[in-house]
Amino acid sequence: MGKLDGLGGDKVFYFFEEICKIPHGSENEMALSDYIVAFAKERGLYCRQDAHYNVFIKKAGSKGYENAAPIILQGHIDMVCEKNAGTELDFLTDPIEIYAEGDFIHARGTTLGADDGIAVAYILALLEDDTLAHPPIEAIFTVEEEIGMGGTRAFETFDVEGKRFLNMDTEEEGVLLSGCAGGRRVRVYLPAERSDSPVGKKAYQISIRGLKGGHSGADIHLQRANANRLMGRILYMLKEAVDFSVASVDGGNMDNAICREAGATVLFAAENEPTVRELLGKWEKMIQEEYNSCETSITITMETLQEEVFKVLTEETKNKLIHILLLLPYGVQTMSMEMEGLVESSSNIGIVKTTSEHIYFDNAVRSSVESRKELICQKIYSIASLCGASVEDVNDYPGWKFNPNSPLLKLFAKTYGEFYGKEAEISAIHAGLECGLFSEKILDLDMVSIGPEMHDVHTPDERLSISSTIRVWEFLKEVLKKMDH
Ligand SMILES: [Zn+2]
Repeated sequence: MGKLDGLGGDKVFYFFEEICKIPHGSENEMALSDYIVAFAKERGLYCRQDAHYNVFIKKAGSKGYENAAPIILQGHIDMVCEKNAGTELDFLTDPIEIYAEGDFIHARGTTLGADDGIAVAYILALLEDDTLAHPPIEAIFTVEEEIGMGGTRAFETFDVEGKRFLNMDTEEEGVLLSGCAGGRRVRVYLPAERSDSPVGKKAYQISIRGLKGGHSGADIHLQRANANRLMGRILYMLKEAVDFSVASVDGGNMDNAICREAGATVLFAAENEPTVRELLGKWEKMIQEEYNSCETSITITMETLQEEVFKVLTEETKNKLIHILLLLPYGVQTMSMEMEGLVESSSNIGIVKTTSEHIYFDNAVRSSVESRKELICQKIYSIASLCGASVEDVNDYPGWKFNPNSPLLKLFAKTYGEFYGKEAEISAIHAGLECGLFSEKILDLDMVSIGPEMHDVHTPDERLSISSTIRVWEFLKEVLKKMDH
């Protein structure tokens, strides 16, 4: 007896439960990949597994649909492995312990992997059922989505014929996703030239804390403060007021998280301490007021350092550092003109770090329009060039530009209206999806992304709605039935 038996939805929950039994965290996808290959072989379907464990399966169109244009169905087979402290499960070897409660499927103390195991379950259930009406199906199962989309990057498309593409990696029923942002991580390296610490100056640590932070794509429209940027402002204003040196500036750990905390080690004459304290207090108040509708607890503090600081940045390096921090693009850069409320382009100063050789600045640039992503990067390159800093593009992935005339989107929207008796929400996200990379690999690809209702993905509270999963399954069958040409 399976834990999910009797829930309905044909074989969707059966396959989901099977998937949960096979460990499949990112970079540990081989067993699930082999399971999918064995599934295809048993059913005599065309199947190709590549060296990265991506799998590609084809199934002919059903009777009367043999000559219809194929539909590509795609989901990723890897999952994020997060667990609560005290949960003993080993993601490399143990099955996910699932249970159904009320309308939701949960995992005991761990992520569930409905992101994106449910896509795999849907696709296997479709391939399994010979009674359904559908065009030729081309199913793509990718690996390593959660750690940089490595599987999709490596996936070859020589035997892919379809030009319409359904991605199933979204978490909101009723939303037809039809665009996503591309991104690039740009690192700026400012050479850290140093000299001996000036005589008679004391060392202090300035800290900016208490910011909310958030995801640099999904939360950027909230216009929250970035601690790295605030540090640039504070140091610039301080420069106008007193003579001081900087030993180091550090803030943030992830390029794609809005920086919540930053610190700077500075040196100045002890007699200036009261002035600096007063100024910091004034600026703290000013910044709290600026952000009073989206931040509640920003603090700017200063403490005396006991240990001695022997080296500081030269005056020139200090000034360049402050200019870079002040000028790097941060926050929403452009809004979409096609879709109200959608952020089109943004940038985030995620990390600032002082090393023995450099001060580096990690920027996460995003845009759904490739040329606008390039423009923001060009601004960063220009700032770096003006300051004698070098740049490195660490990672790049393309976006998926919203196409209001997409035939596939129209078919989904029309079918949704008939099936649900209400209109679907057509939307796009300011974050990455594999669709962007696929649109670059396969020319003229017409895409939509859907999925059932899920909550708190990437956390041990991840849960999947049973009723939503069944409705989306029925809707999916309905759309496929309409793809008769
Ligand atoms: Zn996903």
